[in-house]
Amino acid sequence: MTITGSVGAGGVNHKDDVTAVQNLLIAAGRLTGPANGVCDQILIEAIRDFQAASASHPDGRIDPGGATLKKLTSIEPPSPAGAGGVQPLPLKPPAAGPAEWSGDSSQWPQEKKLQSLEPGFRAKVEKVLAALKAAQFEPRIVFGWRSVAVQQKLKAEGKSTIAFSFHCAQKPDGTPNSWAADIIDKRFAYSEEAEAKGFWPALGAAAKAEGLVWGGDWKTFRDVSHIQGRANSELAAVKKESGL
Ligand SMILES: [Zn+2]
Repeated sequence: MTITGSVGAGGVNHKDDVTAVQNLLIAAGRLTGPANGVCDQILIEAIRDFQAASASHPDGRIDPGGATLKKLTSIEPPSPAGAGGVQPLPLKPPAAGPAEWSGDSSQWPQEKKLQSLEPGFRAKVEKVLAALKAAQFEPRIVFGWRSVAVQQKLKAEGKSTIAFSFHCAQKPDGTPNSWAADIIDKRFAYSEEAEAKGFWPALGAAAKAEGLVWGGDWKTFRDVSHIQGRANSELAAVKKESGL
């Protein structure tokens, strides 16, 4: 089973590919039929829910030869990474910067993810985490920083449309200085329970109390786990500050 182009959020969405993906999701019990070949919000949510269940970063899109398609079409052997079936990205270390910051940053311990944030932003994120814990949530950072190499790899594979994100901000010497973090409750991850238990609104409220931007407010692509310390309009400036 292959598709000729990407399906889902920001995808190419050829009718035959959309139909094929809808049928796979219907077969997996993730979507109610019949397949109609139209990529709508219901399909994107179904893709995101399926991705969330495998603890990968849910971008709502399925790419030809990508991990989500592989998972959807076959029963995966247990991941060597263990916890949650997260598949480590086969990454080369960044060309510049200490080796200790190399590898799949989504697999780093929480403390290291915090250290990968821009210091002022990090202090606010720590307050957000404290507020969520005080409200009996169990917040976990999924992604703090990720390297430009990773981001560009994602773009080259058609998994992202941008070559630089707020997650990629770095000091001019190449060490992490992220202006973004993705936060979940470890009990709910991206499941419907997160919404039902009020985690996303709580994250949004805690972030905004610290003057941060919450991706859940975005209209075109609601990115509920994403918070950032700069406005979207400042992306070019952040890239420049990063020496990139
Ligand atoms: Zn993010």
